[in-house]
Amino acid sequence: MSNFLVIIKNPKSRAEESYFNRYIHIEKMTNLYRILPEEMDDIVTSLGQPRYRADQLLHGLYHESPRTIENIHQIPSVMKNALVTAGYTIGYENEVHRVVSKDGHTTKLLLEFDEKTMIETVLMQYNPSPEKIHPRSTVCVSTQVGCPMGCIFCATGQMGFEKNLKAEEIVLQVLHFARLLRQRDEHVTNLVFMGMGEPLANYDETIRAIKILTHPRAFGLGQRSITISTVGIIPAIDRLADEYIQVKLAISLHAPNNELRKKLVPTAGPHSVEDLISAAKRYFKKTGRRVTFEYALIEGINDSNAIASELAQLLKGNGAHVNLIPMNPTAGEFSRPSRKRVLAFQYILRDGGVNCTVRVEKGSEISAACGQLRTDMVQKTI
Ligand code: SAH
Ligand code: SF4
Repeated sequence: MSNFLVIIKNPKSRAEESYFNRYIHIEKMTNLYRILPEEMDDIVTSLGQPRYRADQLLHGLYHESPRTIENIHQIPSVMKNALVTAGYTIGYENEVHRVVSKDGHTTKLLLEFDEKTMIETVLMQYNPSPEKIHPRSTVCVSTQVGCPMGCIFCATGQMGFEKNLKAEEIVLQVLHFARLLRQRDEHVTNLVFMGMGEPLANYDETIRAIKILTHPRAFGLGQRSITISTVGIIPAIDRLADEYIQVKLAISLHAPNNELRKKLVPTAGPHSVEDLISAAKRYFKKTGRRVTFEYALIEGINDSNAIASELAQLLKGNGAHVNLIPMNPTAGEFSRPSRKRVLAFQYILRDGGVNCTVRVEKGSEISAACGQLRTDMVQKTI
């Protein structure tokens, strides 16, 4: 607990609470935060309203962060009533806990969407300084409660899989931070799908959320400021290459051969290292966007000079970029290699002609870094 600077229990007003309870008990409601702008046009016109009202509604939703349909100022009461009667809601997220790192640059939230859906989401800020008015503000979103992939070094993987998040639950993670940043005249600049879960195992809802978050009529974030990180589900990587979205892709490789990779990623199954590299090449060919390979460096497991040489051999000539992530501590028995070992590994890759950087980690002191998100442990600390 000594690492925690701020722990805030959510101050919920009674009115908010009753609205929230009403939302979670009404089934078959449709959340407006899962609706694409084109679909919003149809909804609005089907309610007998002119099409321009869809833009007013979208502006209210994405730039004012209302808590209820009633709070959307731009649209007339008759339209608000029609939306509610037709079964629409903006049932929102509830901030259960907030933890801020000592330097103030990393904020981890425990958000609850209903009593069965709780996830962690993280904001990382880079170079915030009085001279730089708008620091880079990256939201690390979750796509699942837990994860079915079971990577042995990852806290989320070790908690097992509970459920997929819905598109609106992904969108609301970003909007929650957007609201928080707006109070300091800042805004969300980047998005990484590196929170809890495997985004490509929840493909449709993840893509729907990205389309909403990047649509100029909705949240309007640049597609190029988004990175999807995947453990490597090949059919989904090919499908993503065919979408009209220009997101960056990161594939979590962790090993240069199948034997070692299957030990670290037990569900790697049919997706061999060679097939993953071919999928990355296809993605690059179709989208023009280079793929990054992420490599969690674990002491004594995948960090030797011999393994670095094998990795260099595998990737050289591909124009590949490797991002080394020195293992963040989790409850497991694995640990982070020394700084010297990390640099030696990087040197061998670079010497072998492979572009390689070491990730600047944010938030490990508050268990908010890669692979440390795990809601059951957070709940125990409450
Ligand atoms: N499921 C996706 C995205 C979420 S994990 C994926 O696996 O890519 C985001 C990144 O954190 C991945 O690269 C993952 O390998 C890495 N990671 C997981 N546990 C980690 C740990 N304990 N230390 C460092 N990185 C870790
Ligand atoms: Fe899931 Fe990614 Fe963690 Fe593996 S590293 S268990 S794929 S969240």
